[in-house]
Amino acid sequence: SHLKKYFPIQKGLLNRTVGHVKAVDDISITIRPGETFGLVGESGSGKSTVGRTAIRLIEKTSGEVKFKGINIYDLPPEELRKLRPSMQLIFQDPYSSLNPRIRVGDAIGEALLDHGLVPKAEIRDRVLEVLQSCGLSSYHIDRFPHEFSGGQRQRIGIARALVLNPDLIIADEPVSALDVSIQAQIINLFRKLQETRGLAYLFISHDLSVVEHLCTRIGVMYLGSMVETATRDELFKNPLHPYTKALLSAVPVPIPKLKRERIVLKGDIPSPSNPPSGCKFHTRCPFAVARCKEEVPEFRDAGGGHFVACHLV
Ligand code: SF4
Ligand code: MG
Repeated sequence: SHLKKYFPIQKGLLNRTVGHVKAVDDISITIRPGETFGLVGESGSGKSTVGRTAIRLIEKTSGEVKFKGINIYDLPPEELRKLRPSMQLIFQDPYSSLNPRIRVGDAIGEALLDHGLVPKAEIRDRVLEVLQSCGLSSYHIDRFPHEFSGGQRQRIGIARALVLNPDLIIADEPVSALDVSIQAQIINLFRKLQETRGLAYLFISHDLSVVEHLCTRIGVMYLGSMVETATRDELFKNPLHPYTKALLSAVPVPIPKLKRERIVLKGDIPSPSNPPSGCKFHTRCPFAVARCKEEVPEFRDAGGGHFVACHLV
């Protein structure tokens, strides 16, 4: 609720704070058990920072984060540590987080050992079981990371998170580094695991077509702010925010008749250290009017839980 994360901009020999990057600026999200919330936006919109502050891998600036009713920022370190297994993060590039000299079975088992979740004698069985549920086998357990393809490495990354039996997985661009054909396999794996284990996901992506087949609700971020949230079906059928419309117009559709008019945005995403006044999107919005430069649009319900921040809606 109302999550904010501001990073100080420091200059000079004495690291004087000269301003702040408002990476996350008042974001509220609810994710229910077994549900997937898709968080979408260009790089630099603050999605990853939402993911990391949501499980307290980095500290928030203000706002509140509750996990199963517990305010995780109120917890002392040892209590937070006990909760860690239930909130796991999966990265875009699992290879960079795998030690090249450690066999993948050991890398997966290590987490179990660290948290003392399973007696040592049972670790191998647990690792094997989780590898199998991720589409790998006993053949892979004693291999090294470099012996795997990109898709397989992401399966290992998922297995490593899954072995701790989490309730929530933050998946930060988990398929962005993969070939399109492999992306579909990994997304299907995410879906299958959710069905069998009742997992909740915060699924972060810059690509709406990636979240389309997985998410219950979708939120679109721009420069640290949420500009629109709706159910998946509603967002794809009836996008209201010009930025969402632009993102959707770039998503390929199977039936050419349904093709949306392509909206090409001018320019790049502005710097979050010096965001535009009023509606932060006004410098790129094809529909901007005078008011947009002056007034921050309120994030409000346009009907049926479809929230949007735009003066024209
Ligand atoms: Fe565009 Fe104005 Fe709406 Fe912002 S408030 S999205 S600039 S029309
Ligand atoms: Mg990111």
